[in-house]
Amino acid sequence: MSAATRDPPPTPAQALAAARRLVVKIGSGLLAAENGEVRRPWLDALADDVARFRSRGQEVILVSSGAIAVGRRHLGLAGRRLRLEEKQAAAATGQIRLAHAYQDALARHGITVAQILLTQEDTEERRRHLNGRATFAQLLALGAVPVVNENDTIATAEIRFGDNDRLAARVAQMTSADMLVLLSDIDGLYTADPRHDPSARHIPLVREIGPEIETMAGDAPLGYSSGGMVTKIAAARIAMSAGCRMLIAKGKDDGAAPGPLAAIEAGARATLFLPRGEPRSARKAWIAGAVNPSGVVIVDDGAARALQRGTSLLPAGVIEVEGIFERGDAVIIRTRSSVEVGRGLSAYSSTDIRRIAGHKSGEIAEILGYRGRDEIIHRDDLVVTEPR
Ligand code: GLU
Repeated sequence: MSAATRDPPPTPAQALAAARRLVVKIGSGLLAAENGEVRRPWLDALADDVARFRSRGQEVILVSSGAIAVGRRHLGLAGRRLRLEEKQAAAATGQIRLAHAYQDALARHGITVAQILLTQEDTEERRRHLNGRATFAQLLALGAVPVVNENDTIATAEIRFGDNDRLAARVAQMTSADMLVLLSDIDGLYTADPRHDPSARHIPLVREIGPEIETMAGDAPLGYSSGGMVTKIAAARIAMSAGCRMLIAKGKDDGAAPGPLAAIEAGARATLFLPRGEPRSARKAWIAGAVNPSGVVIVDDGAARALQRGTSLLPAGVIEVEGIFERGDAVIIRTRSSVEVGRGLSAYSSTDIRRIAGHKSGEIAEILGYRGRDEIIHRDDLVVTEPR
C-alpha cells in the first residue's frame, strides 16, 4: 500500500462540524472598534454561532482579546503607544467591559458565561494546569461558556504570552480540545504577504510545520494583528503536538451578516492545520511518557482487572502507596505481585491516599475533611500498560 491512499483531508467546514470541543480565539481588531467601543453587532453574530454549535452538542470555549483596546480610553490613554504598566491598567478596566459584553451577547440565548484569566505559568505548572483543566471541565459540564483572557494585570513582561494566539493554543491543550479556531483579519497562511505581493498563494492545508512554513511566517508580516503570523504558527505547533486541529480564518467580512463560524461553515477560505494524532491519544502519550513517576500505588486484583477494562481507579481498590508525591504527580499502578497495571496522574497526595485507601469514595470527605474527586486516578488521566 502506498502512502497516497490516505483519506482526503476534511474541508474547514467539515473540520468544524466534526469538532467536539472547540476553542475560538477572537482578536482585538474584530471585537473593538477604533474608538474602543465593543462592536456589538459582530459580537451578537458570534454569540449566535456559539449558540448554534452548542445546540448541536459541541462545546465552546472563547479566548478573547480586547481588554486593552476597550479599556484604554476610560483611563484617558487613547491615541498613543502604551507602556507595559499602562497596558496593564487598561486591561484591568477593559476586562470588566469585555466580560459584560460577552455576558449580554450570550444571555440572548440563555447561555451563562464564566470568566477565566490565566498567566503563562498557570498553563505550564503542572498542578495549576490540572486545576485549570478541572475547572474548565466543570464549567462545560454545567453548560457555561468559558471566556478566557490572559491575566494581563499581573503577568510581568518576561513571562507574558503577550498574544492570545499562543494562550488559546495552551487552553486547547489544557482542555483536550479537538479544534482551535484563530479568528483573525486574514483568511489563513500565504506563501508571501498578499498585501504587497500579487503572486502570494493561499495555503489551504498544513500537515506539518517544517522550515518552509516557518520562513513564510517569519519573513512576511502576514497577520495584520498584534501577534502576526509568527505567533499563529507557534500556536499551531502547540495545538498540533496536542493532537488538536487548528484553523486560521478571517473573522470579519465587511458588511457581511453571518457570524464568523457560520462563514467558515458556508465555505469561506481558511488554512487548516491537521495533526496526526487525536487529543486524547496525545495526552495519554504524555502521561505514559512521564519521565519520573514519583511513586507507586498498589492495587488489589479486582481493581487491576477493572482498570484493564477502562475504568477509573477508586480508593476502594487501593492497598498501599510507596513514595511521597503530591496531587497531580505521575505515579505507577502495580499489583501486590509487582506487575505494572498502568500509569496515571494522581488526584490525591500520597499522604491522603494512605488515609483513604480501601475506603468507599463516599467516605473521602469525612476522612480528609474536604471533598475531592471520587477517583484516585480518573480514567482520562490514566494509561493502562499493555500486558507482556
Ligand atoms: N490580552 C490582550 C488584551 O486583552 C490581547 C493580546 C493579543 O492581542 O493577542 O488586550
